[in-house]
Amino acid sequence: MNTFNDISNVKHASEILMQQRKAFLATEPPSRAQRKASLAKLRAAVLAYRSELQSAVSEDFGHRSAHETDLMELVGIVQSIDYLSSHLRRFMKAERRHVSLIYRTARAYVEYQPKGIIGIMSPWNYPVSLTLIPLATALAAGNRAMLKPSELTPRTSDVMHRMLAATFPVDEVAVILGGPEVGAAFSALPFDHLLFTGSTPVGRKVMKAASDNLVPLTLELGGKSPVIVARGHVNQRTISSIVYGKLSNSGQTCVAPDYALVHEDDLETFIQQFNATVTRFYPDGPACDDYSSIVSERHYSRLEALLDEARQHGARVLEMGVKPESARDRLRTLAPTLVVGAQDDHAIMQEEIFGPILPVRTYRQIDEVIEYINGRDRPLALYYFGEKDADCKKLLRRTTSGNVGINNTLIHVAQDDLPFGGIGPSGMGAYHGIEGFRSMSHAKGIFDQGRWNFPSLLHAPFGKLMALALAITLGKQKSGL
Ligand code: NAD
Repeated sequence: MNTFNDISNVKHASEILMQQRKAFLATEPPSRAQRKASLAKLRAAVLAYRSELQSAVSEDFGHRSAHETDLMELVGIVQSIDYLSSHLRRFMKAERRHVSLIYRTARAYVEYQPKGIIGIMSPWNYPVSLTLIPLATALAAGNRAMLKPSELTPRTSDVMHRMLAATFPVDEVAVILGGPEVGAAFSALPFDHLLFTGSTPVGRKVMKAASDNLVPLTLELGGKSPVIVARGHVNQRTISSIVYGKLSNSGQTCVAPDYALVHEDDLETFIQQFNATVTRFYPDGPACDDYSSIVSERHYSRLEALLDEARQHGARVLEMGVKPESARDRLRTLAPTLVVGAQDDHAIMQEEIFGPILPVRTYRQIDEVIEYINGRDRPLALYYFGEKDADCKKLLRRTTSGNVGINNTLIHVAQDDLPFGGIGPSGMGAYHGIEGFRSMSHAKGIFDQGRWNFPSLLHAPFGKLMALALAITLGKQKSGL
């Protein structure tokens, strides 16, 4: 295994970038067949390393079930690759654009050209898919790529390193291992585009580093994504979806519902049904195979500190499901927990939680919900459970979030044809769908003048033709203005 925080990796990274750029400039952009072949190689590699990846992720987390890794990571990678492959023809096609009357006989069109070398920096929470879906996008758009996965999931990063080294030449795809220092130096390299997935504070640093070379950026960040339950809509379907979104990967999901806004009349039913659903999903308690551990001691202590502060200030901290105390029998495992009555200045209502804890706030009117959300950073996701009635429409019109889920959580991310990204503190730009292809392509506008072209006659000395052109575009001039 490569050593993390090894600063020699940075020098190595800079050399690889030069090597990749030289190789990129030495050839024509890859054809559609070549791009499809690269995607097929990536797909086959992921399936060949499936069990190694599952074990590495589980060891890195302390525990994560192979099913969760399959469902939340590998399925997404394979689906993205298949989607990109089958839509490449449409994505790569030059687009005809409008030409205004006086320029007619010319043609205007846009060609999507590979940008070159894409830097990809990824976090630990879905360490495989958040590295390989951006890689698939980069390859589909005809680029080469350098990846910097997380140091917090070292075994998984190491498997991806070996897997990609065995699949692609280093001047096409390269993996650089390292921690924050390597990350800082990596983000300062003169890539042709940089896609960073991670926290908002590190995203700020990455954007500063990239600005020195004016590297175009996609920032996939985090934040507090609210889930709103309309009055009278606490039912099994609603709660199952919220529990699924909150407890998948033990809440270590960028688009997990961070906190819930529930009508005050429904609070006690919400708590009861949440408890019943956790019991149904995890009948053997939180130390079971299907429930994940928290990735590191630092993250585990941070979550405990959030609960301690809320408890000390009088919030109700309610462990859910059967045998919640059995969580303490397993490494870094935290029982599903609801927190009722936390204050807005408590860290639990300020920081992104990123764990199996759901604070619940009550409201009376939808306007309070809108005001609360708009008083905070624009979230990565917003979830609404209820009818698509006037309140729902008002909420969607008056708030801005990366994406929205109506009567579901998380599933919007699995839609290959929807852009995925935040806004402001939750991110910048998007990938997935055609948006991903385009973010890693340069949209080159081309104006191809025909042999006979009216504007070529519009030069000095100006005469009748000029008067005609002006009359067509501006109309007749009124005198005496
Ligand atoms: P992080 O920001 O700590 O780390 C992300 C990457 O940045 C890692 O590769 C890390 O090595 C590197 N890094 C760390 N310090 C750096 C520095 N000073 N300069 C440059 N690079 C540095 O994030 P994390 O803890 O790994 O992941 C959790 C966060 O990621 C959460 O906020 C979550 O919401 C967010 N996230 C967002 C998405 C999304 O798609 N929008 C997906 C998953 C996670």
